[in-house]
Amino acid sequence: MNDEILDLLVVGAGPTAIAIGAEARQKGLSVLLVDRGPLTAAIQEYPTFLQFFTTRDRLEIAGIPFATPDDKPTRRDAMAYYAAVVARYQVPLALHEEVLEVRKEGETFRVVSRPAAPHASAETRVPGRAPWLSQPATGGTPTGSACRGRTSPGCTSATRSPTRTSGRTW
Ligand SMILES: Cc1cc2nc3c(=O)[nH]c(=O)nc-3n(C[C@H](O)[C@H](O)[C@H](O)COP(=O)(O)OP(=O)(O)OC[C@H]3O[C@@H](n4cnc5c(N)ncnc54)[C@H](O)[C@@H]3O)c2cc1C
Repeated sequence: MNDEILDLLVVGAGPTAIAIGAEARQKGLSVLLVDRGPLTAAIQEYPTFLQFFTTRDRLEIAGIPFATPDDKPTRRDAMAYYAAVVARYQVPLALHEEVLEVRKEGETFRVVSRPAAPHASAETRVPGRAPWLSQPATGGTPTGSACRGRTSPGCTSATRSPTRTSGRTW
């Protein structure tokens, strides 16, 4: 992040932060949303085909209608909706940047951050069979031989949507 003075810095780029960011932009304030993950990181982590239990009217922010065919949006609907709010109000983002410290300095606050550890991309995942296929037929603990490296930083043996790393927001 740059060494600039902002009216408002929001830690996170989830629905709450996006609502704050949109309102700040509407009021003409300088604002930046800083998240250690991608936009709407928490929602991106939901099970792929999850449907919200909250109805769309209660999830709406920034006065933008949340139009979906079903009353209860899917994970993908929500990611697209919140990305649209960010685009509509041109909310500035600093993604994959972790806030380490917020320090008061006189009348201002200094925010210390660093680039967050990269996530594994589909290309860098460990090849081989899915871990559950290495489960012995008699039961017991998988040997892990089919997913060596899964404990390395940035690697996972779980099947996840590539949206976290592809740069697309849905
Ligand atoms: C399976 C599942 C289903 C859900 N269904 C619903 C539902 O139907 N309705 C509902 O209202 N809610 C639901 N929730 C909860 C929902 O995820 C939250 O309501 C919503 O994400 C809250 O938004 P938020 O912006 O407050 O927080 P978050 O979305 O959690 O955003 C916080 C952000 O802060 C970032 N962050 C934290 N610390 C730092 C740091 N030090 N530096 C930089 N970034 C940081 C995180 O990466 C994160 O992106 C569900 C949750 C789960 C897991």
